[in-house]
Amino acid sequence: MRTINEIIVHCTATPEGRPMTVEQIDHIHRHENHWTNGIGYHKVIYLDGSVHNGRPLEMVGAHCNGGHNAHSIGICYVGGCAKDGRTPKDTRTPKQKEALAQLLTELHRQFPEATLHGHREFAKKACPSFNAHEYDYIFKEQPQK
Ligand SMILES: [Zn+2]
Repeated sequence: MRTINEIIVHCTATPEGRPMTVEQIDHIHRHENHWTNGIGYHKVIYLDGSVHNGRPLEMVGAHCNGGHNAHSIGICYVGGCAKDGRTPKDTRTPKQKEALAQLLTELHRQFPEATLHGHREFAKKACPSFNAHEYDYIFKEQPQK
């Protein structure tokens, strides 16, 4: 496993309530972004709170600029825009919030050295349309072995 020192949270920047699948993201990242390894995120959280695997954790992702990909994990929830498809909005469903907390707890256990970030800390973007540091409490806990 590569060294992981950051966990970076993203949104798909799609309209509130519209489902999106790993396959769709993979298609966009292959055919629009021309990324031969496909989906750039490692984990995707659907509207119903289910967590789906994107790029394997062992592989460097494609989700952040500034050299952050090499040692990070990119997780992404579906949503992040208002119904107009443009205005940033925290559209997380209660199930997505719960799933995010659970996923971050697992990742913190697996990679206790890693810190938590929202994409917007590293880019001039609104992504992930909420303050990822609301989950900092998870990272302050000593991981349960
Ligand atoms: Zn992002």
